[in-house]
Amino acid sequence: MIDKRKFYINGDWVDPVNKNDCNVIDPSTEEPYVTISLGSADDTNKAVEAAKNSFLTWKNTSKEERIELLEKLLKIYRNRSEEMTNAISKELGAPLDWASSAQMGSGESHIEDFIKRLKEFEFESNFDENSDNYIVYEPIGVCGLITPWNWPINQIALKVIPAFATGCTMILKPSEMAPLSGLLFAEMIHEAGFPAGVFNLVNGDGAGVGSQISGHPDIDMVSFTGSTRAGKLISKNAADTIKRVCLELGGKGGNIIFADAYPNAVRDGVRNIMSNAGQSCDAPTRMLVEKSIYEKAIQEAADEANKIGVDLPSKSGDHIGPVINKSQYDKIQSLIQSGIDEGATLVAGGTGRPSNFEKGYYVKPTVFTNVKNEMRIAKEEIFGPVLSIIPFDSEEEAISITNDTPYGLGNFLQTDDKERARRVSKQLRAGVVQINGNAPDSGTPFGGYNQSGNGREGGTWGLHEYLEVKAISGWK
Ligand code: NAD
Repeated sequence: MIDKRKFYINGDWVDPVNKNDCNVIDPSTEEPYVTISLGSADDTNKAVEAAKNSFLTWKNTSKEERIELLEKLLKIYRNRSEEMTNAISKELGAPLDWASSAQMGSGESHIEDFIKRLKEFEFESNFDENSDNYIVYEPIGVCGLITPWNWPINQIALKVIPAFATGCTMILKPSEMAPLSGLLFAEMIHEAGFPAGVFNLVNGDGAGVGSQISGHPDIDMVSFTGSTRAGKLISKNAADTIKRVCLELGGKGGNIIFADAYPNAVRDGVRNIMSNAGQSCDAPTRMLVEKSIYEKAIQEAADEANKIGVDLPSKSGDHIGPVINKSQYDKIQSLIQSGIDEGATLVAGGTGRPSNFEKGYYVKPTVFTNVKNEMRIAKEEIFGPVLSIIPFDSEEEAISITNDTPYGLGNFLQTDDKERARRVSKQLRAGVVQINGNAPDSGTPFGGYNQSGNGREGGTWGLHEYLEVKAISGWK
């Protein structure tokens, strides 16, 4: 059993004030593999005090000093990339190749991109050349950063790096379900030599450290990535202290496939949703297919899903691993059953584990067709490898079905008609739209409309989340 019970507070690894051990389960074996501590208000308060004190000096550091430290961190991250890959593979059950290329790699590319944006960023400027007014961007202060388990280092880097870059100090509470990558990242930050108290890590659950962060009077901003359910609780709990609340929440993306889409569009759509075992907030879990190619699309989708291997995280290859824990596994099983009960047609996968597993939270890549947008499988975020295929007749109908959800995070569309692609992408109520499989570039904003949240992470938009803006008149 790995022992990871210490917190990182004020530049040191410290024991929790009150002992509260928690054994975390390996999703591939259902056995505990690491013990962490769940923090109490005493630990949260200690971390907040350290962050508050260090803010007094850290906020006055120059951009160049912060760039130098971030460049050191990037070097360390690259040197220790194999450790990071192994940590993510273990905690998430992610196959090694995926843990390395997609998961570990996302952290590296965020650090690189934020360094680039920081170099370009002007913290001070004249309002306009005929005015005596001056605009200054200043760090918002002490930040509480709460992250989920599904893209662990991706989410941590998207918050910690812009907080460093803008001169904020912070308390990170990573997901208690996937604690290894956050603790390893804290080691790297220590090694890079950031001043004590600028970065602090306290493990805990949502009801404990999570709520203590969102309600804390000395925390100026909370940046949260996770479920819409927790996002609502955090907003309510933060209201009394009027702190800034940046939310990156769930999604139920649509992938509109027109009859003139490129030949592999359906198969790519299936791969996209099944990757990371279906545990991505922007996964296009509703595939909308134009009726004239619907029958062919069903055959291709079923065939592609049946080709996706489900296997151990320790093996290399492009298979998927288990989902994170028992409650997710049970939720996915009950949603698959609801699809069957509500009359959708199952063409691949189904309930139960794949035949090669008796243990572990492994789920069969599952495809439903003849899905109606009112069914639970089309409405709820399943967060597993389950795809719903919905037929449509016209462009207007496709847009209307895609937008008929409380979420608005990632949508996708596939067509050979450039004009139509642009027209439809503007009608989709979502923060991100991908046309014909073109992935967004590093540094573009990521975030959602409606109940998918209110924040934008990444690039210059990600820096702005951590900044106050001040207008000074009479400057000249
Ligand atoms: P979750 O909401 O259960 O937990 C996320 C984090 O919040 C964890 O650290 C948890 O301990 C903490 N938390 C839970 N309740 C809290 C509360 N009341 N107050 C404060 N903190 C609380 O989510 P999860 O299961 O870890 O992650 C999956 C969810 O995250 C999915 O809904 C997914 O769509 C979403 N997600 C969104 C994005 C995005 O950028 N929009 C990215 C990744 C994941």
